[in-house]
Amino acid sequence: MILTVTLNPAIDVRYEISDFNIDKIFRAKSFKTPGGKGLNVSRVLNLLGNSVVATGFLGGSNGTWIKNSLQNLNINSSFIESASETRNCIAILGQGSQTEILEPGAEISEFELKKFIDHYKNLLLENEIICISGSLPKGISGETYKLLCELGKNKKVILDTSGTSLIEALQGNPFLIKPNQEELKAILQTPLDTQEKLIKGALTLRDKGAQNILLSLGKNGAIYIGDDIYKIDIPKIQVINPVGSGDSSVAGFAHGLKNNLPIEEILKYSMACGMSNAMSNETGFISLPVIEELMKKIIVKKI
Ligand code: ADP
Repeated sequence: MILTVTLNPAIDVRYEISDFNIDKIFRAKSFKTPGGKGLNVSRVLNLLGNSVVATGFLGGSNGTWIKNSLQNLNINSSFIESASETRNCIAILGQGSQTEILEPGAEISEFELKKFIDHYKNLLLENEIICISGSLPKGISGETYKLLCELGKNKKVILDTSGTSLIEALQGNPFLIKPNQEELKAILQTPLDTQEKLIKGALTLRDKGAQNILLSLGKNGAIYIGDDIYKIDIPKIQVINPVGSGDSSVAGFAHGLKNNLPIEEILKYSMACGMSNAMSNETGFISLPVIEELMKKIIVKKI
């Protein structure tokens, strides 16, 4: 099985209001999905046919709602219950606009964190690939991801987070990190306007401890830094909703690893999943026939 870790999950609530504006009243149906980057990864892994176990913290009635939704999707959940309620993240989609209201999330106590770490150690015994995604909840120190990576050092830990949580975790030597171009720029505080600068920038994260790096570049594909360096070129697609594409590309990578595919194929899966997600209006959703077609058009070149 593949383990996904979502320490700060959410219920993603979406409203579609074409004429949305402030200072007005709207009547709208809500569309709810289990959210948080790790749960997007779980959904895509599941759609690719993998057995997934999702862990992290869930609390209150929102936590119960997420657990039931995952069960309906056949995703195993093995969460630690938090005393505080799991958050809601609201997106209002208007005509070409997206307004987001993001709650900060449940505060986790030291006792709850300790309980989680013990639980995580047990889950590591049964899982070879671990996908850790998203922000850290309030109350949890930046060192936590470093610890989760260190504990999984004999496994393959894929870490997708940003800012200081990412920098601090690098010392735990994650197997793979997946920053996007903006995240790398924010860390390095320098313009990254050429391929050379992108590679040089990504290499600094390897110097700080990441074993491999998938630097995703949105519509421009990605650069992979592993034993060799690869540029992945992708075809132009009709984009509907790119939210969750990074999470889908993490799932595609983990799927390829799980199946012991050669690195070129792993990278193709990763890109195809990110693209298929961008072609759908749902977040964390892919289509297998679309993936099959896209895989034929993705070019992986050693540089
Ligand atoms: P994130 O969602 O983390 O910001 P990216 O935007 O880089 O990550 O997207 C991850 C992957 O999803 C890309 O490497 C690419 O394969 C695919 N993707 C995302 N946006 C687009 C797009 N506009 N056109 C084509 N593919 C895309």
